[in-house]
Amino acid sequence: MTSEIKTEAARDAAKLLSEVWPTGIPVDPIVVARRAGLQVLETATLDKNILGALIKNPDQDPIIMLNENDGLNRKRFTCAHEIGHFVRRGDTAEPYTTIDFRDRLSSLGNDPEEVYANEFAACLLMPADQVRLQAKENLGDLELAIRFGVSRDAMQFRLKNLGLRP
Ligand SMILES: [Zn+2]
Repeated sequence: MTSEIKTEAARDAAKLLSEVWPTGIPVDPIVVARRAGLQVLETATLDKNILGALIKNPDQDPIIMLNENDGLNRKRFTCAHEIGHFVRRGDTAEPYTTIDFRDRLSSLGNDPEEVYANEFAACLLMPADQVRLQAKENLGDLELAIRFGVSRDAMQFRLKNLGLRP
């Protein structure tokens, strides 16, 4: 079940990249979001426990809200994660709101929507072919993380998932 969702997320992320981001790494998820028809708004007014949100109001493009107080890598990952929620929902006219809370991240580890969005984000920011290519250069995980614009933790996790590190 979980592995099917992850496969689907990886495929959808690769498809979106091929459509709107032909230029390699680092991927700019804000540009990807805009090209996918989303608005992106950074705001300092979100509660500090909120990482981000995806909001679809009637007759408007969906909006990704990011917490301006977060660090750059965190915001990039959150933005990619919210794009994942959007892709999973499909382009619907129905209004909806998805909110991602900081302290619920780990407890939602098995929620299919969150599994999908997290895998989507990892695959969007760290495309498998690019990671394999760069990892050949014998770079440390910190340097790889910097090249891809992700946290060291996220890079380590991705390398492990791709079988490139023990
Ligand atoms: Zn989420």
